[in-house]
Formats: sequence, C-alpha cells, structure tokens
Amino acid sequence: MSEESRYSRQILLPQIGEQGQKRLAESTAAVIGCGGLGAPVLTSLALAGVGKLRLIDHDRIGLSNLNRQFLYEESELDKEKCERAADFLRRRNSGIVLETVCERLTEENAGRLLSGVDVIVDCVDRVETRRHAGRAARRLSVPLVEGGVHGFYGFVLSVLPGKSACLECVTAQEAEERGPVPAVGAVAGVIGSLQAVECMKILLGLPHVLYGRMLQYDGLYGEFTEVPVHVRPDCICQS
Ligand SMILES: [Zn+2]
Repeated sequence: MSEESRYSRQILLPQIGEQGQKRLAESTAAVIGCGGLGAPVLTSLALAGVGKLRLIDHDRIGLSNLNRQFLYEESELDKEKCERAADFLRRRNSGIVLETVCERLTEENAGRLLSGVDVIVDCVDRVETRRHAGRAARRLSVPLVEGGVHGFYGFVLSVLPGKSACLECVTAQEAEERGPVPAVGAVAGVIGSLQAVECMKILLGLPHVLYGRMLQYDGLYGEFTEVPVHVRPDCICQS
C-alpha cells in the first residue's frame, strides 16, 4: 500500500493537494489528554497523516473511561493511556512518528512538554491543566485548539496567542468542578472531531479558523451557536 493511495481522497481537495499533504507530514501536533476528546482528535490527525504527534497523559485506563474513550479495550484496564493510545494509532498508521509523555502537564513542565510543536490541542477536563496549557501556548507563541464537553454540551475555541481571545478571557473565575464531569461519548466525538478540523486548518494555513469565535454545541437541542469572544484587557494573556 503506497502512501499515495492512503491519502488520495484528501489530496483531491484543492485546500490540501500534494503540497498540503506534505505540509501535514512535516507538522507536529501536541495533544494534551488521551481521553474522550483526545480519542477523536488523535485518530483523525493520525489517519490524516500529521507527521508527528506528541501524546501527553499521565492517567491509566479505568472502566468508566470506556463509554467514550474508544482508543482502549477492556483488556487494557489500568495500563498507561498514552502508551496504549500510541499503540492503537501505530497499528492504523505506521508512517507517522508518535511521542509519548506519560506525565501530567504542570506549570513547571508545560514549556518543555509543549516546545517544538506547530499546534497544541487541549483535550483535558481540569481547569488547572487548561490554564497551564494556555499560558505555555502563549509563551511559546503556538496556536492552541481548546475543546470541552459537559454532558450533552460542548464547545470549541481556537486561540492565536497575542492576537485572539484565550479561554481565560472568557472564563476568568471558573472554579474547578468537583467530582467527575458528566460525559456522553457521542458528544465528545462531535467536539473532538471539530478540534481535529481546526487543527488541520491551522496546519494547512487555511482561513476561517475559530479565532475569537467560540462554537458551542447543544446536543439536547441539536443546535450549534457561535459566540464571539473578545480579548479581555485585564486578562493574563495581555500581561
Ligand atoms: Zn486572555
């Protein structure tokens, strides 16, 4: 099987073509969190031929992950997520490079873990980790694709550091949720897929990235809403 036939359906697109495919192959994406959002993001980017993926997750596979985290099998309970996720992806595309970082992203290590990438995809549900990811993306001047889910609701927002609003411009005082966040697998699939599309647009240099536009999805109403978000002058991203 040649690489040409693997990607031929997307190379047909004028927005991708041979040039775009080469660009994807030369790109590196960091994905923080290999869970409900990470699964569709990683799978989409790996299958599309993004040349290098850095998987960051400190967690181990639990039974309650399996309603949405399709990278994992029942036989893999308690194993390290990033290693199992890399194995899942490797068996589907052996032509890309997979780096695994089985650590929790913290304020101290964020700069190191996220350096040298072209785009960062935030697929975590901890407010604290989001903050570290957002602030590191700003310091490194790397575009960031935020995504989150809560039950039947989800959102996507892309951030161009120094130019467009960050998540903290919008959710300055957001408190950490207590206990597990409710999650519907299909909704995580919707949001993670949207994040992967944003990521591809950023890597391909295409217009209309969701910078300054938060796309919200309400699965219960079957409704997408676009909310403009503006840089907050006293946000940390402006200091
Ligand atoms: Zn901000």
